[in-house]
Amino acid sequence: MDLKSNHTSPILTDPTPSKSRLQVPSHLLQYSGVTFTPNLLLTVPTMNAGIIDIRANNCLHSMESSSPPHKKSRDINNDLASTDMDVAYRAWLLKYPSALASFEQITNFAKGKRITLFLDYDGTLSPIVDNPDCAFMSNDMRAAVKNVAKCFPTAIISGRSRDKVFEFVGLTELNYAGSHGMDIMGPVRQSSDDYHDCIRSTDKQGKEVNLFQPASEFLPMIDEVYNSLVNNIEEIQGAKVENNKFCVSVHYRNVDEKDWKTVAQRVHDVIRNYPRLRLTHGRKVLEVRPVINWDKGKAVTFLLESLGFSNYDDVLPIYVGDDQTDEDAFKVLREGNRGYGILVSSVPKESNAFFSLRDPQEVMEFLKSLVVWTKKTSTL
Ligand SMILES: [Mg+2]
Repeated sequence: MDLKSNHTSPILTDPTPSKSRLQVPSHLLQYSGVTFTPNLLLTVPTMNAGIIDIRANNCLHSMESSSPPHKKSRDINNDLASTDMDVAYRAWLLKYPSALASFEQITNFAKGKRITLFLDYDGTLSPIVDNPDCAFMSNDMRAAVKNVAKCFPTAIISGRSRDKVFEFVGLTELNYAGSHGMDIMGPVRQSSDDYHDCIRSTDKQGKEVNLFQPASEFLPMIDEVYNSLVNNIEEIQGAKVENNKFCVSVHYRNVDEKDWKTVAQRVHDVIRNYPRLRLTHGRKVLEVRPVINWDKGKAVTFLLESLGFSNYDDVLPIYVGDDQTDEDAFKVLREGNRGYGILVSSVPKESNAFFSLRDPQEVMEFLKSLVVWTKKTSTL
């Protein structure tokens, strides 16, 4: 099968190319074909099948918009900007209250339900670091995740490859979904259903599991694009290309800002030959992904069904994440008040989440609080 040819795969309608912020510079309002709604949520028109026209300039604007200006020195202007940001953050908390401050509200809603936890990895359980290969989680965080997984079904859903995120987390008590949910290893599903790509397998401990890889046909194409991006991008100082199995990440965190345009142009030049791939943006990372109707939100639904929670009346899913790709999961939970999305962010930005946490440290406090609450309620 020629994967470069036109296809019949459904097109995602939510490929938001950047993190929108409350303080959106006016020049970013001039995206071609992209509009900002009054609440500054970035929306992109539905694309025609087979056409992914992300121009290099738009790509560059998105890179700039997802990267707040560097704080070069501590001076009066920076102090004032910092104060402004604190005020903006406090105002933002009125819309996205802290999950720690709202803990009682969350647990009240959880009464009589089974909490199910979904956790992003980078920026949620681990700090964002310069070298993506060194995004290690702390031992304290690992212990917190291990303890919470003893209380509730817990899954990690990451943009990394499943093997890589397992390497970082190293806990066998969890379910793992890599490649933005396109590579799920989860419990054996009891019911026969429509997930044709779902196969029986065994995990590293020999336990029987289900393996679901809805983008498996894209593997050769992803490998080809990865090699092409390595050849074209990695000569730019600081740029790093990561093969996440069903998607490819181009990290530009360590690239001098003057070279971002070159990164954007070269990525664009490579993927223009692959109409079945699309480009999305994360935190200082461009991500090349298959155009399939699958995302982290669908991965949450799939895992809930696998865990036997098709009926949302008896389960409270909680999803904690910091990335644009996590918005798909927040949206699924927000629709019909199925559960709670918790956005990890230290800056104000629009989200489909209900609550917020400032950083991974607060995520750890939240996980610990859930364990304490569970132990307390189980002894009542
Ligand atoms: Mg993340």
